[in-house]
Amino acid sequence: GRAERERLRIAIQKSGRLAEPARTLLSACGLDWRVQGDRLFCHGESLPVDLLLVRDDDIPGLIADQVCDLGFVGRNVLAEQDGERRASGQPSAFREWRALGFGACRLALAVPDGWQWTGPGQLAGRRIATSYPVLLREWLAREGVDADVVRLSGSVEIAPRLGQADAVCDLVSSGATLAANQLKPVATVLESEAVLAGPVEPLEGVRGELAGLLLRRLDGALQVRN
Ligand code: ATP
Ligand code: ZN
Repeated sequence: GRAERERLRIAIQKSGRLAEPARTLLSACGLDWRVQGDRLFCHGESLPVDLLLVRDDDIPGLIADQVCDLGFVGRNVLAEQDGERRASGQPSAFREWRALGFGACRLALAVPDGWQWTGPGQLAGRRIATSYPVLLREWLAREGVDADVVRLSGSVEIAPRLGQADAVCDLVSSGATLAANQLKPVATVLESEAVLAGPVEPLEGVRGELAGLLLRRLDGALQVRN
């Protein structure tokens, strides 16, 4: 059963922006794995710490279900899914343990280039496309703005040109994608980076000790970098 598992299991993104930096950081912590080709599971060699390679969106749920103990995921994904749980009356089941210093981006409100931005009130009654409806609704509530949230799973930045929305709330790093779609960022909803996510309560037993060891090495590796 899951309670007796004596190896630590860490979920990381299989492919995408966070995949390579996550592996590099774990290697810097002294972890290594047998080459596993295209497999989703990597058995740890030097320590009883295994990797699960998954879509980033699945990582918070894997921690909530105790399938994995820890995960490397964007704060944006973690915060949205935590908010989803809150919105549906479920208790928190994961939290940020450490900020990892890579994958920096921000969840930003962006409007058509042609708008003269006067402030959040300008969004009242407008349609805003996003893959982060919970975080956007929380921001709108904080700003006291009543707008329509249009949930899209991808291609958010093209929505205004397609007439699906008036503005967007999307992840931005350089801003090049927004600019290519004649949009400009006007407000920040969340500053994000990759984080180590874990359960709300500390892990216990063997896995608690392994997590402690990993955290000490992680903190050392992060200090060397900064
Ligand atoms: P998956 O196939 O795992 O679902 P994905 O397409 O959802 O991948 P990526 O595009 O690889 O995910 O982004 C992963 C994370 O990288 C984001 O959740 C975010 O935290 C971070 N990130 C950093 N910069 C950007 C950016 N410019 N656009 C999108 N995400 C970014
Ligand atoms: Zn994803």
